[in-house]
Amino acid sequence: MNTDIVIIGGGASGFAAAIAAKETAPDADVVIAERLPRTGKKLIATGNGKCNLSNMSLGSRNFHGTIDAMGIIARTPGWYELFTEKLGVACVTGSDGREGGVYPRSNSSATVLNAIRLKLSALGVRELCECEITGIRPSDGGFVLTYKEGEIRCRRVIIAAGGYAAPSFGTDGSMLRLLKNMGIRSEKICPAVAPLRVSPDRLRGLKGVRIKGEIAAFSGNKELRRERGELQFNENNISGICVFNLAYLFQKYEGRLTLRADLAPDMTETELTKYLKKIRRDRAGTTAEELLSGFFVRNLAVWLVKNVLGRSPSEPIGSVTDRDIMSLCKSIKSLELAVTGCSPWQNAQSTMGGIPADCINDELGSVKYDGMYFCGEILDVAGDCGGYNLQWAWSSGTLAGKNAALSLKGGKK
Ligand SMILES: Cc1cc2nc3c(=O)[nH]c(=O)nc-3n(C[C@H](O)[C@H](O)[C@H](O)COP(=O)(O)OP(=O)(O)OC[C@H]3O[C@@H](n4cnc5c(N)ncnc54)[C@H](O)[C@@H]3O)c2cc1C
Repeated sequence: MNTDIVIIGGGASGFAAAIAAKETAPDADVVIAERLPRTGKKLIATGNGKCNLSNMSLGSRNFHGTIDAMGIIARTPGWYELFTEKLGVACVTGSDGREGGVYPRSNSSATVLNAIRLKLSALGVRELCECEITGIRPSDGGFVLTYKEGEIRCRRVIIAAGGYAAPSFGTDGSMLRLLKNMGIRSEKICPAVAPLRVSPDRLRGLKGVRIKGEIAAFSGNKELRRERGELQFNENNISGICVFNLAYLFQKYEGRLTLRADLAPDMTETELTKYLKKIRRDRAGTTAEELLSGFFVRNLAVWLVKNVLGRSPSEPIGSVTDRDIMSLCKSIKSLELAVTGCSPWQNAQSTMGGIPADCINDELGSVKYDGMYFCGEILDVAGDCGGYNLQWAWSSGTLAGKNAALSLKGGKK
């Protein structure tokens, strides 16, 4: 097959690239090559099926990696222009209580995928499914792409094949490995928007506990980032959106990352101390377990007495000393948990790392291969949880698609 532009990957960024390429060069033949039987499988799963497609408040603090994501986002149309005006998807903000999140009004990711499909079909973009690209080689000012049934010759290639996160959606990092063999390096990777592992011994007894709190990541005494939200304790990890937003730090601080959780961010240590002393008085004659049972769910109340005080929860409450109360308050305000690892890729929503800034130019083109472009998660950008990763996919896809098409028009190689 001979064509003008092949986009490898039928996900969010590949769709945006296809739309932009066809709108820029309507006569160009644009093909999406997707390894799975259907395109858009991951998009359907986003935001628990509701598709948190962007965020009202986008800033550099929400994007991590070597590439200036905000610089690129600022050069492309926003979510309103793309979804509401161009694709006809009515959107609302904060529909699941998350501040600033932009969702389709229908609360259904299928609405978004359908609108994209209608646009691709109207523009005449072709889709080749069950077409896994396993080889790319430059040839005659373009590229020859290999797949199991043969070869595709194209003038431009846009690589929108995603990263390592959530491999059941077709993204297992194989494209980054293929590119490495072509001399395009990847920045160190780790799961982003993902839980963080903590020793199971430390978490024993806490499984299933959910609490609204604050969590900060530290390397030594240096605070790296602080987040507020619901913390969830599992058998060997901590999760919750606030933890997801710290996961990318594992890339740089592996082996040195510690979490400090404030389990009562709405109270000072002094207020807590006063409260616990009153409970000790009011519940005289009961057990140590009851000291915190009116404040936390029982599992957590018991865990704190056992792990912080090293006492049996059945000891008399009167045996809890002022010094014990001080220790409990310190732990409640700053519970220290060493990070022992990152989560498996199947539990991650994004990839930290990928193709770095020094491998691309301003047009998201490869500095090594003329006519090759990149977009989406394969690039070294990881956004926070809350619509940031999809916004990156839309913006980077739009820019890569537009520039690939412009380079055809300009008659560039
Ligand atoms: C469960 C889940 C929920 C999420 N929810 C949100 C959310 O609500 N908001 C948000 O902003 N982000 C969310 N994300 C993250 C977001 O979905 C991704 O960052 C985004 O989809 C990345 O887009 P992409 O186009 O770069 O890659 P992908 O969407 O991963 O698409 C890449 C495509 O390339 C295909 N492919 C890979 N290799 C090849 C090959 N060799 N040949 C052909 N095809 C290939 C894959 O099969 C895949 O379809 C979520 C992620 C997950 C896993």
